[in-house]
Amino acid sequence: MKILIVEDEPALRTSLVDHLQRDGYRCEQAATYAQAHEKIKLYRYDCVLVDLTLPGGNGLDLVRTLKADQSPAGVLIVSARGALDDKVTGLALGADDYLTKPFHLAELTARIQAILRRRQFQGHNELRFRALTVRPDRAQVLVGDEPVPLTRKEYELLLYFLANPNRLLTKESIAEHLWGDAADTADSFDFIYNHLKNLRRKLQEKGAPDYIRTVYGVGYELSSE
Ligand code: CA
Repeated sequence: MKILIVEDEPALRTSLVDHLQRDGYRCEQAATYAQAHEKIKLYRYDCVLVDLTLPGGNGLDLVRTLKADQSPAGVLIVSARGALDDKVTGLALGADDYLTKPFHLAELTARIQAILRRRQFQGHNELRFRALTVRPDRAQVLVGDEPVPLTRKEYELLLYFLANPNRLLTKESIAEHLWGDAADTADSFDFIYNHLKNLRRKLQEKGAPDYIRTVYGVGYELSSE
């Protein structure tokens, strides 16, 4: 998953890049309107974070460019401007979401994950991974034709893996995904372990192989190999 971060304030840009890289995303950065414009014309991104007030131009014009080029990238506007008309304009132009500075980094991750997940599931009422089928509109999971009854957290956990196949998900990022800012790290690692154990057991009881690889001490990965 590749993300372009368009932000002119160096300290904020660096902290966004560091944070998102820790979450396993590949990040590129642009500090001016011109740099950002060049990058979105040259490269493909899964998601673009756009600050609105930039040296050399307005971030809304970057959103216009992305949409005019029919870019598949998700767009998250990140701006200090609280002005309602900017927000309305941005969303009307086709931005997926709008985050007002200052914000918690965990909130940013959650919004990006939501955007990526929506885009990945867009137009699909079924999501398939090897023997698994998920019907997000009905919150239903099948192994072959067999429905698998999951708890809410087990289901969210499975969706998070399916949205990020073949990517190492740290325990921290899973905790943030499942509990947001409310996550208490030490406790939530135990909860993750238990939810995951139950999820694996339920899928295997219906005949699915164990697709989730444990990276000891770090996290887990849904593996398509
Ligand atoms: Ca700015």
